[in-house]
Amino acid sequence: MQAGKLLTFIKGLTLLVDEQVSEEIVFTQGKRLLASLIKEDDWLPEELSKPHPEYYQQYLLYADPLDRFSVVSFVWGPGQKTPIHNHTVWGMVGQLRGEEKETLYHREADGSYRAGEESIHLAGEVATVSPNTHDIHVVANHLSDRSSISIHVYGGNIGKIKRAVFHPKTGDEKLFISGYANTFAPNL
Ligand code: FE
Repeated sequence: MQAGKLLTFIKGLTLLVDEQVSEEIVFTQGKRLLASLIKEDDWLPEELSKPHPEYYQQYLLYADPLDRFSVVSFVWGPGQKTPIHNHTVWGMVGQLRGEEKETLYHREADGSYRAGEESIHLAGEVATVSPNTHDIHVVANHLSDRSSISIHVYGGNIGKIKRAVFHPKTGDEKLFISGYANTFAPNL
């Protein structure tokens, strides 16, 4: 493993959050750091890039000791997708391998959720989510014959945060804590 690339990213983001910067700065300077991390797909260890036959996997790569951010590899098998869900903290999603399809959802007056803007994320691209603008979406592997992998960075320890999935028709909200497929950090 070329640990240097991930470590360089973690150092850069740590220095940035140390300055208690705004979300806008995270989404410009932090986004640039993430873009350079995912520019080449040659550093993620094999054991943190394995798909599961049934469920998309969330492998923790790094959790900031002060819970200011976390870095996770999301590994999607063919056809796998999330339910409609939120995050409650800022997030950046860098496509490392394959392609993902993201659909934003909007709450209607009757409480149901309507599918809105769709985008396909190609390798090398970075997308964002934020409770201030667009926090509710569905993400799916856009490839039917291969796994796809994205590197997610969140403004908190995402595996410990209580957030929600939403029923599309009734709008019913179910709270969940995602956890991680692997757990090794002391602050979990
Ligand atoms: Fe998400």
